[in-house]
Amino acid sequence: MLDNLTQRMARVVKTLRGEARLTEANTQEMLREVRLALLEADVALPVVREFVAKIKEKALGEEVVGSLSPGQALVAVVQRELTAMIGGDYEGKAAELNLAVAPPAIILMAGLQGAGKTTTVGKLAKLLREKYKKKVLTVSADVYRPAAIAQLQTVTEQVGADFFPSTPDQKPVDIARAAVDWARRHYHDVLIVDTAGRLGIDEAMMIEIGALHAAINPSETLFVVDAMLGQDAINTAKAFNDALPLTGVVLTKLDGDSRGGAALSVRHVTGRPIKFVGVGEKLDGLEVFHPDRMASRILGMGDILALVEDAQRGVDVKAAQKLADKVKKGGDFDLNDFRAQLTQMKSMGGLSTMLDKLPAQFQAAAGKADMGQAEKQMRRMEGIINSMTPGERAKPELIKASRKRRIAVGAGVQVQEVNRMLAQYDQMRGMMKKLKGGNLAKMMRGMKG
Ligand code: GDP
Repeated sequence: MLDNLTQRMARVVKTLRGEARLTEANTQEMLREVRLALLEADVALPVVREFVAKIKEKALGEEVVGSLSPGQALVAVVQRELTAMIGGDYEGKAAELNLAVAPPAIILMAGLQGAGKTTTVGKLAKLLREKYKKKVLTVSADVYRPAAIAQLQTVTEQVGADFFPSTPDQKPVDIARAAVDWARRHYHDVLIVDTAGRLGIDEAMMIEIGALHAAINPSETLFVVDAMLGQDAINTAKAFNDALPLTGVVLTKLDGDSRGGAALSVRHVTGRPIKFVGVGEKLDGLEVFHPDRMASRILGMGDILALVEDAQRGVDVKAAQKLADKVKKGGDFDLNDFRAQLTQMKSMGGLSTMLDKLPAQFQAAAGKADMGQAEKQMRRMEGIINSMTPGERAKPELIKASRKRRIAVGAGVQVQEVNRMLAQYDQMRGMMKKLKGGNLAKMMRGMKG
């Protein structure tokens, strides 16, 4: 799902590190990445244009306050706008089906052949029966394909709903009317009407489904669209939206190798909420759609924003600056500074908490077990430094063998561990020496992103 957007955003965040505010130039670069990523994800061009324009406006207007870096601000803007774009008025909320009418509530399914209409009827019937405890009747108005009627009967029986038979010699409107009548007399709560779809959009089909809609006045008219259609989804969505007063969209085959762009395009073109997504061929493969989750999933960020916020809270900018000034003035990086760095890392929520918030692929790469280990080690290192005298902390070179033994006993560790800690400190000190003061400040700021 839009993997490239994630990668590109990560790159943008990196390049913007250390810059105090968003400028026309760095925003331009970021927008280019977002634009390319969306196009690669199959989002339709007009949709991309509008989206990018919106982000530009928001991003340039955004003052970057306090310790917030421009990269983070941009990610936040993109995330917010993406959610708004996918969710529209519904923002982060899932759009519910409207079934609050005198029974039977009628759901009309529309879409191209192969979009997944019949499968979705079965899935929906299952969901309504099991979750909402509704008595459900299904009917097929597809008089062009007898196989389609049989297929609907099969899936309906599989989920334990009732099926209203129809035959190819009947008119779709008559079939639907008869089914409504039957549903009313047999106390069904919901009637789902499956319809014919063509391989492409054609006028006769649009007229037919328009007439069907007028005859039965459904409370939900759902446009079923294959997420793998990519760019073509936009034309199909437009045609159905013009022909019918749609109330919602079902995006199917999101489990496949869909690039996910259809989700953005379809919402944008129809102005109707995506209510469900199909995530498999099996009849339990239907999920209520959550715009905010989809946005996060598209950005592939896990809770990367929360992580960014934690890091901001944790990094004490003043302390970082003090250290930078000290090193700049030729001051040495002593064990007090080293301990301060360890504390800093701990206050960022600990390594494993940070890891929890990263996207799954990073978590796997980092290895959770190792993180716990690293954290434990950090705590031990702090303990060792705490067992030293202030003089030793300020001048670590004073620490000879006998002092090491005393420190080890004080901290409850082996002497080797004291040695290891000192070696690590030496390594860090070497790094600090190489850095000029300015670069250090930059590096510390970089830690926030
Ligand atoms: P219709 O012509 O619109 O009624 O489409 P069908 O319901 O017959 O579905 C067409 C094909 O898409 C079938 O092979 C379904 O199994 C498959 N399909 C439908 N929905 C999904 C889905 O969410 N995921 C996957 N992987 N396949 C689906």
